[in-house]
Formats: sequence, C-alpha cells, structure tokens
Amino acid sequence: MSIKLSGGIILATGENGEFQVLEGSCIVVNGKYIEYIGPENEAPAADEVKDMKGRILMPGIVNSHCHGPMTLLRGIGGGLALQEWLTTAIFPIEDKLIPEDVRIGEVWAVMEMLASGVTCVSEMYDFPEQMWQVLKETGIKGNVSRVGLSFSDTEEIPAGRFKECVDFAENFKDEDDRVLSEFCLHSEYLTKEPFVKRIAEANKSLHKTMNIHVSETKLEHEECKARHNGLTPVQYLEKCGILDERTYGAHCVWVEKEDLDIMKDKKFSVAFNPSSNCKLASGFAPINDMLAKGINVGIGTDGTASNDNLNMFEELHLGSLLIKNSAKDATVLNAETVLKMATVNGAKALGRNDTGELKVGKRADIIAVSMDKPHMYPAFDIMNLLVYSAQGSDVVMTMVDGNILYENGIYMTIDAEKAKADMKSSVLRLYK
Ligand SMILES: [Zn+2]
Repeated sequence: MSIKLSGGIILATGENGEFQVLEGSCIVVNGKYIEYIGPENEAPAADEVKDMKGRILMPGIVNSHCHGPMTLLRGIGGGLALQEWLTTAIFPIEDKLIPEDVRIGEVWAVMEMLASGVTCVSEMYDFPEQMWQVLKETGIKGNVSRVGLSFSDTEEIPAGRFKECVDFAENFKDEDDRVLSEFCLHSEYLTKEPFVKRIAEANKSLHKTMNIHVSETKLEHEECKARHNGLTPVQYLEKCGILDERTYGAHCVWVEKEDLDIMKDKKFSVAFNPSSNCKLASGFAPINDMLAKGINVGIGTDGTASNDNLNMFEELHLGSLLIKNSAKDATVLNAETVLKMATVNGAKALGRNDTGELKVGKRADIIAVSMDKPHMYPAFDIMNLLVYSAQGSDVVMTMVDGNILYENGIYMTIDAEKAKADMKSSVLRLYK
C-alpha cells in the first residue's frame, strides 16, 4: 500500500542533517517507509493520494519522557510542594491502581498524544505489560520497561525486581521494532548500588536502551552527594557503569559543570521536561550548555499529574522561551534546534535511528499541521510558526510506520467512546 501526501509544505531533512522547508513537493510513503520526497511531477504513482494543501508535513513528535497512565491522576494536588504532592495526592491513588486502570489510562494518554502529533513515546510506569499491549494495539511507537527499584543492598538480586526487569527486557519483543522493551532505573534515590551495577551489566549484554530520572530536584541532587562521598547522580551512575549512548536521563535540572563533560563523553542523552519542572518548581535544566557541548537533548511531557497535559507543542514553546530568557539572549536555541530536539534527537535517545526525520528510507512517522486557523497566518517562517504559534490541536493527521492512526478527530485504532466510558469508571473507583 502506498500513499502520496500531496500539496503540503514539507519540513524535510537535507543531506547535511539540516531541516529544510520544501514547497511544490510531495511525499510518497510505501509500506512503513518514506519512498520519495521531491517535486510532484517526478513522484512515483501511489495507491492513494491525500490532499495536504494548507498543511505542514513534519516528522512525528517524540515524547522522550512520559508516565502515560497518570492521565488518571491529571492535575491532582495542584499547587502543593513536591514532597507533599507525592505523599498526600499521588501515592494514595497510585496504591489503588490495578492493571486494568493502567491499560485504560494508557489508552487515554495515547489518544491525547496521537491527537497532538506524538508518534513515539518513552513510557515509565508500573504494569508495563498493559502499556506494551496498548502501544501494540493502537499502532503508536514506544519504549517500555519494568521500573527498576531496590531498597536493600542484597535483596532481590538475582530474583525479585531485578529478575522482573531483565525478564521484561528480554521477553517483550515486537517483530516490527515499533514497540521496544528497555531498562529503566527509577532514580539514584530509589535504587541501591548492587542493583544499579547489575542492571548496567544486563543492559549492556542485552543491547537495550535505558531510561532514568536524574537530578530532578535540588534536594535529591544534594542527598545523593551526601550519600556517595560528594558524587552527583551523574557521577555516581557513571561509576556504576550506567552511562553510555544507549541511556537517557529525564530532567537533569541540577547537573553540574563536570557532569556535562561526563554526559558528553559517555554520549548520554537528556529528556528536557519544561512544564513539569516549572509546575513542581524544580528549576530548569542548563539545556543551552548541554547543546553547546554537543549533548543529545530530547523533550518530554512527564506525566499529566505534573504538567497537566501531553501536548508536546506546549513543551516546544515553553522550553524555548525558558532557555532564551534564562540565557538573557534571544538568539539562543533557534526554532530548528527546538524542532530537532522534539523529533530526531528524541528518536536517537530512544535508540531509534530510523525515524524522527522526513527523509527517503526513514520510517513514515509523519504528522500534518493545519494552517487554517488565524494564529497560523501569515507564515513567514515555517519553523518559527511551528514552535511559537502552532498548537497541538492544529494536528489533523498522525501517521506511524505508514499507517494513519488519527485524522480530523477520528481514531482509526481506538474506540474513543469506549475509552471515555472506561476512564470514567476507573476515575469513579479510584476517587470514591
Ligand atoms: Zn518522570
């Protein structure tokens, strides 16, 4: 099956990796892959032609850090300080979650993401089997893991949680590599050193990716230094053998100058979470310094309890403004860089070099952004328009591996009415 996307403005990737805006061109998708990007009159024939006039075609967005099922906890405890927020609002509800809730919350999250242009997501939450199943059934891409936690220096190795993490990474396979199993350490503060070292070895031997919360809050960062002879979380994780090009850390707000050298040296990637960091008043990561060093940085939403939505267009916008303002320099972090962070950089962090760009031979993960609304005209600069004017609700088509999963408000793989009824029944049970 081939589809020609005709008449749109295309945000393609050039030979040198730069984003370029093409007009008068089309994209032909054949099966899972992009077969052609170029002039309409030279395009190969396709089984179906879609009129994309008045649409910007761009790479699907990669949400590099998310806890999808937290849609069930959207916005609860708003206004509380982090520790009180966790203990009085979040944990009591999470204690009641059953696997079916996680499945329902994840479907709801996928709906929100598909409708706002996310084609790939890094998921970290309990009951990964349910999340895996949802990603498989809905057609979106994602990395999923059993969350690594350990509370004792000896317990659970080699059994218990360690075995669960390895079993999940080893046994959950997708023949299309659309859904990938990976490793995850919740954080330095919720894991013990022997566990961390064994997970590092397991990750290396299974050639997976790994996702970790790193230096999100000042307290967590300072407590790590107190526990580990002055080592920051990055320095401690490096000592444990965790950091390499297949690992990526969410937040990295409080990383220090020496940490940046290690991150660069080890090719450790970062997921920047601007809304969550602002809402919980955690601070904001030194993204500009990271980029200047050549560290790979993606963008994520985090969970909806601390955001409170999964709209990546908001993250692009807010993230860019935060970094410009903190640098007191409007010239830093141009729109092209922000768009790359949300697409190809995120894909790279998740171990996916075959997506994140509109380029012949890449996977066909493509979204169409409508230019119909007043805020999308005039369109003097397409990349600026996407970062500073576009809204998630401007997305009118989301395609993953050549399959259209969402178009003009309709979900092709999800029964939206049933999903809504399921959410209501879970919420009623959890909050009664
Ligand atoms: Zn998180």
